[in-house]
Amino acid sequence: MLQQTQVKTVIPYFNKFIKKFKTIEDLSKSNEREILKMWEGLGYYRRARNLLASSKFLVKNYNSKLPTSLVQIKKLPGVGEYTANALLGLVYNEPRIAVDGNVKRVFSRNLNIEEKNIDFEKLIETNKKKLFNIKRNADLIEAFMEFGALICKPKDPNCLTCCLNKICKYFNSDKKIKNVRGKMIKNKNYDIFCYINKKKQIALTKNNQISFLKNFSLPEIKEANGFVKDQNWKFLKNYKNSISNLKLNINLYYKFSNRLPPDYNWYSLKENKEFLPSFTKKILRQLSTLF
Ligand code: SF4
Repeated sequence: MLQQTQVKTVIPYFNKFIKKFKTIEDLSKSNEREILKMWEGLGYYRRARNLLASSKFLVKNYNSKLPTSLVQIKKLPGVGEYTANALLGLVYNEPRIAVDGNVKRVFSRNLNIEEKNIDFEKLIETNKKKLFNIKRNADLIEAFMEFGALICKPKDPNCLTCCLNKICKYFNSDKKIKNVRGKMIKNKNYDIFCYINKKKQIALTKNNQISFLKNFSLPEIKEANGFVKDQNWKFLKNYKNSISNLKLNINLYYKFSNRLPPDYNWYSLKENKEFLPSFTKKILRQLSTLF
């Protein structure tokens, strides 16, 4: 839940989630609809699907226990190098560091070397005797996460009160490295086409062509090519939105039609029983203003 999401946002979701699913077996008996409903509003729904799939995988293949090897853990859906290292460190106290943006920044500042010039794997391997402590490797992983988030922050690090400021080369150097990582912002233009029938229902599909929107119930969505050929489509609204490093510019069109395209299902514009992503709900509310 905490990937890309702040702790204060996650807390109520987390509490509700662990109250409902007390064990990994409980979670594995759930289904996508139920999990997505509980996740509603938290975003990045792939995490919820992966969590459910991982619980089923663990119950079936590992007697409901987390495996102890990096290779095996990485077979869990959605678990890559970072999460696998974090899990092994946190759960089994293995001497590992989960290298994310926070950890890279802390190392980079302490050494006053730009991130792109550091081989983090080699650095950790060379310094493992200094870094790891048999009893408290799990604490070290959490400490790095917290230290990067609260003290050695991306902007305005708390150098004056930092416990490392005596040894930190960034703090003690006149030539401080630049370390605010600039993400390449990409502009993307999309057109969304909504079919509405006489019963005030909209056609939605999970099978759209945009990779990062796969498996979300949405109307037809296409990369905009500057003009809409079919004059029956009526323009309704423009949305500007940002997801990660994407700046989205979206035009919403609609037309009345009783023909359901293949792979689509009808949803009432007032639908609230099914899980629908918040952006789809926004579209539904906007289309309701037509009636
Ligand atoms: S002294 Fe400043 S730059 Fe160095 S580790 Fe502490 S907070 Fe980060």
